Amino acid sequence: MADRRDGPRGLRGSPNPGTLVIAQGGLIQGLDLRGLRDTVPLLLPHLRRNAAAYGALLVGLLITGVAVLHVGRGIEERRTHRFEEAVRYGTLGMQQRMDTYQAMLLGTRGLFSSSQLVERSEFHAYVESLELRRRYPGIQGIGFAQWLRPEERQSHVAEIRAEGLSEYHLWPEGERPEYTAIVFLEPQDARNRRALGFDMFSEPTRQEAMRRAMETGLAAASGRVRLVQEDVPGSTETQAGFLIYVPVYHGGVLVPPERRREQMRGFVYAPFRMGDLVEGLRFPGFQNTIDLDIHDGTKTSDENLLFSSRRAGEAAVPGMRQEVVLEVAGRPWTLVFTAREAFVASNSSGQLVTVAISGVLVALLLFFITRSQVNARTAAEAASVEQQRLASEARAAVQVRDDFLGVAAHELRTPLTSLKLQLQLLYRQLRQGVEVDPGRVQRAVDACERQTTRLSQLVDSLLDVSRLASGRLELRLEALELDEVVRELARRFETEAQMAGVRLTVDAPRPIPGRWDRLRLEQVLTNLVANALKYGQGAPVDLRVRDEGEYARVEVEDRGIGIDPEDARRIFDRFERAVSSRHYGGLGLGLFISRQLVEALGGRISVESRPGQGSTFIVLLPRVTPSPKAHAAPTPPETPRTPLH
Ligand code: ADP
Repeated sequence: MADRRDGPRGLRGSPNPGTLVIAQGGLIQGLDLRGLRDTVPLLLPHLRRNAAAYGALLVGLLITGVAVLHVGRGIEERRTHRFEEAVRYGTLGMQQRMDTYQAMLLGTRGLFSSSQLVERSEFHAYVESLELRRRYPGIQGIGFAQWLRPEERQSHVAEIRAEGLSEYHLWPEGERPEYTAIVFLEPQDARNRRALGFDMFSEPTRQEAMRRAMETGLAAASGRVRLVQEDVPGSTETQAGFLIYVPVYHGGVLVPPERRREQMRGFVYAPFRMGDLVEGLRFPGFQNTIDLDIHDGTKTSDENLLFSSRRAGEAAVPGMRQEVVLEVAGRPWTLVFTAREAFVASNSSGQLVTVAISGVLVALLLFFITRSQVNARTAAEAASVEQQRLASEARAAVQVRDDFLGVAAHELRTPLTSLKLQLQLLYRQLRQGVEVDPGRVQRAVDACERQTTRLSQLVDSLLDVSRLASGRLELRLEALELDEVVRELARRFETEAQMAGVRLTVDAPRPIPGRWDRLRLEQVLTNLVANALKYGQGAPVDLRVRDEGEYARVEVEDRGIGIDPEDARRIFDRFERAVSSRHYGGLGLGLFISRQLVEALGGRISVESRPGQGSTFIVLLPRVTPSPKAHAAPTPPETPRTPLH
């Protein structure tokens, strides 16, 4: 039941929207996707703008990747090749070395074949001439083991003792069907002297090799043995050893196989210490970066390990191991070559890192160059767009100015023409000498006065606009009562309203004192009332004044042509009009000047209107006009939607 409450098993509903919690398995815990969600929209334009740069980076990195792979493969191939070379040289070296030893032993057999009796001194001189230590490193010595039948033992010991070796004896003791005895072993150092008289046939490993040599007539190597020479008192270092035997028969080498045993005379042999033998082996990397293990036989176990150059704790590289089977005097040896970590390190030689770093650097360089080019292009494009915008703004401004000049000329010409007509009429009357009708003169002068007033109003508007544009508007604040100002204004419009047949009412129930600039206030209200009469289609016009605490509110409502909502904002701008100049004259400056003045008084002006249903202009003024320098002037509240009635 609990599961059902938690939602589907494993994927639980997260407490935070946008946070994904995968409960089972705990793969993603508390991965906050909100950051991602916020970042992606910011990231997308950036990526789109720099697509070329990122493309260049990607291509650069791809090329680097391919180059690294290629170089890596090359390095690996070279490394494998070098390893194989080392294995080849190592095997060859070992083979040659063993062949040389066997050849030398066969040569020594020649000494015995050519003479029935080889003197101890003769053998000594022969071996000395071989320069064993220098030419055949690893060889412990060269010896001759004599084949003895049991009945020959006593006379043999006596013979050798007679040569001056008074302590000579045959060992180990015991009755055996056949005996061999080491009679010569050169060079005669302490190790070798110990071996004299030793019956190698008594020891199974040696016996196996001796039998093989005897039966085949060829050189035969023994398995792993511990040489008797190792048993020197005081010696700590022991090495694995082996021996190679070459049979010597009575009557030379050409003895038929079935007669070899009875013709047996002895064995020329050489004991080898493995460590010393391999010591002189040379091939690239040996003992340094490449190790060699030599096993007797084809199995690579520790029991038959003859030699190992591996150091404890040194790791071999996986895959860098090669086994080679070599035949040494009739016995297989397995040579195991392995590479150390150092071999790999010495063969990569930092090339890969260099290629990777250079590749990444070049890719980054490409990225930054491309990005700076893209940025420069974007900036140039932006500049050109801005230039086009400015040019089109300038063109529009010139157009507005030209339109305005046309309208202004027309507006000025209308009263001027009328003025000129009236003056011409008066002039004609005076010149004709007829009696002047005072009533007509009075009307003509009245008309002239109206036209000059109109002219001076137009000129004043133009001057006001220029003053506002240059910021030269000065306010003269004084204590006023707004309701009074509005009533006074309405009185001034009485005649004009009567002539137009318009009922003009004022609704100002309470005195509203405050500090304002009377002239500017009257200018604003004059514009609004004049417009209401002009566009009011002869319907009643109402003026309302209200106290709104810190603010005073004046509304001018007409029931005339109204304004399209699309034009409502525009008409407060300079030269903007929403009517055709054919039907209504005007410069499109009244509301612009009014807005500037109301804002200078710290207030706000707006209109609510529908086409054909009249308009209500609303002016909201702070009771005390803030000084223009006081930045903390209160912002007037938004004018309410419903006008006051
Ligand atoms: P003018 O009246 O000289 O054209 P104004 O700046 O006073 O310039 O007014 C701008 C425009 O606003 C007018 O041309 C007219 O289209 C519109 N307008 C102003 N007052 C009213 C009103 N009471 N009723 C309808 N339209 C008006």
